[in-house]
Amino acid sequence: MSIAAVMPTYARTDVVFDRGEGAWLYATDGRRFLDFGAGIAVTALGHAHPHLVAALKAQAEKLWHTSNLYRIAGQETLAERLVAASFADTVFFCNSGAEAMECAIKIARRYHQAQGAKEKFRVITARGAFHGRTLATISAGGQEKHLDGFAPKVDGFDQVAFGNMNEMRAAITPQTAAIVVEPIQGEGGIIPADLEYLRNLRTVADEFGLLLIFDEVQCGLGRTGKLFAHEWANMKPDVVALAKGLGGGFPVGACLASEKAAQFMVAGTHGSTFGGNPLAMSAANAVLDVVLAPGFLDQVTATAEKLWAKLRPLVAKYPKIYDEVRGKGLMIGLKCHLPNKDVVEKFMAHGLLSVVGGENVVRLLPPLIIGDAEIDAAIVMIEKASAELSS
Ligand SMILES: *Cc1c(COP(=O)(O)O)cnc(C)c1O
Repeated sequence: MSIAAVMPTYARTDVVFDRGEGAWLYATDGRRFLDFGAGIAVTALGHAHPHLVAALKAQAEKLWHTSNLYRIAGQETLAERLVAASFADTVFFCNSGAEAMECAIKIARRYHQAQGAKEKFRVITARGAFHGRTLATISAGGQEKHLDGFAPKVDGFDQVAFGNMNEMRAAITPQTAAIVVEPIQGEGGIIPADLEYLRNLRTVADEFGLLLIFDEVQCGLGRTGKLFAHEWANMKPDVVALAKGLGGGFPVGACLASEKAAQFMVAGTHGSTFGGNPLAMSAANAVLDVVLAPGFLDQVTATAEKLWAKLRPLVAKYPKIYDEVRGKGLMIGLKCHLPNKDVVEKFMAHGLLSVVGGENVVRLLPPLIIGDAEIDAAIVMIEKASAELSS
């Protein structure tokens, strides 16, 4: 037996990063990389952002953890800010995206069951979805590669084609409690839902008394140029899961809900030992200081437009490598003809970090703070990598 001390559940690239600054990462072997993966959409403000560092340092010297047996000032502040900036009336804090989704699913079941509808527990999800790696969330995501060897599948999840309202309507039964979709599928390959589809989901959820849950763990927190991706559709969900970018690299998850959806989540119904501890809250509040500052999200949109304007012709110039560029804001997918792993590897050889996604997509998820210099550097790297790949 010779299993690695770190359980080998990842096929890791052989590089160790030592420090980061803004959009740049420095490896122990002396190489420097432009980080357009952002730790999978997590380091939304780049590395070592001075405001985040200062906030975390100050909190680290004061208080790390107390537990949810007591009031936590940072939680109350963060919850009030998220409520003020969204459809939500209340927020549960946890430590990851999967936990935020678990909370969302529990809210949906309890909403119906506390009203006497004991039969309502099923959740309709979309094919290609990703909601995390817990037993419930791999069942929600429904992807064979995530379920393999972990049977039995948790009961209560029905999958339909993403974007198809006919299938959605047909899948609703008296046991259905909720609909769960990502407004933009992330791991699935950066697939934005039609805004009309999101609005139609609202209509059908209302018609059948279902809760509408959006998983914005990847597309939320400013990545599309709005705090929440569903804002582009001008509609309100009942529950939203948030995580990745929220702590800027510190593990924080949040489940946002309307009062109607969460009215039965009373004391004792849900919990987390670490969730929302003072250290995590100082990080997330610092992230919001930046993201909610006037003009920041407009700046994200302006930055994204510049990047897209340079990416589009580049992608068109290499039709043997790329099929299309898709996504929204700084959540960008390059759908490839060549194997996406080869493209990511070639980008990395030229100093650019990116992430593979479903449907043979390469994901570009740069920190939201990139400027012209980073855009230009990335384009040069992609151009050089593409020229090499096509030769
Ligand atoms: C990453 C992700 C999750 C899971 O988040 P973890 O923090 O890894 O548990 C859930 N939903 C979406 C859309 C994600 O992108």
